[in-house]
Amino acid sequence: MGKRAREAEPEPADSFERLIRELEKLPGIGRRSAERMAYHLLAAPTPEAMALAVAIRDVKKNLHPCVECGDLTEKERCAICADPRREAGTICVVEWPREVRAIEKSGEYRGRYHVLMGRLSPLAGVEPDDLRIGSLVERVRSGGVQEVVLATSPTVEGDATAAYLRGRLKDETPGVAVTRLARGLPAGSDLSFAQAGTIGEALKGRKEVK
Ligand SMILES: [Zn+2]
Repeated sequence: MGKRAREAEPEPADSFERLIRELEKLPGIGRRSAERMAYHLLAAPTPEAMALAVAIRDVKKNLHPCVECGDLTEKERCAICADPRREAGTICVVEWPREVRAIEKSGEYRGRYHVLMGRLSPLAGVEPDDLRIGSLVERVRSGGVQEVVLATSPTVEGDATAAYLRGRLKDETPGVAVTRLARGLPAGSDLSFAQAGTIGEALKGRKEVK
């Protein structure tokens, strides 16, 4: 950070102000909420307040992508990839790990996952090589996969990502069915915001994309 930037954004006066500034960076948290949280942590017993700090440290230290699907795990393979009861012939493609959680909550899916870590976005400079698309094609090509369910978000970019994936899979892994979740999910939002029941219905009503 240059001198000029430091002048524009002065260093917080003390550690309390620093805590408020950090909390304010969290999604959906404004200055007032951040202050309330900071006062709460200040008043809480030390072990209770430190449990939050330790949980954040452990998540950053222990979680890494599963070698198979890219979901976050503390082991080499995540619990779903390591579970022999999950159908290996179906792979559900999602943008982010939080969507794996959302689909699992629906209880309607028994296959495996593949996490892209984002979606195509020409405006934000996210290209196919920036996502875990190559490893998806490799996984499907290595055999044993009958269906790839495209569960990217119901947004313009999510649809574009699904269309791109369909093209790649049709070209490089012919004979594998490619399906897309049924309509009915709240358009323009992230899959993880949808109700479990709605996701379940969208999964049951999935259709092959030609
Ligand atoms: Zn996995």
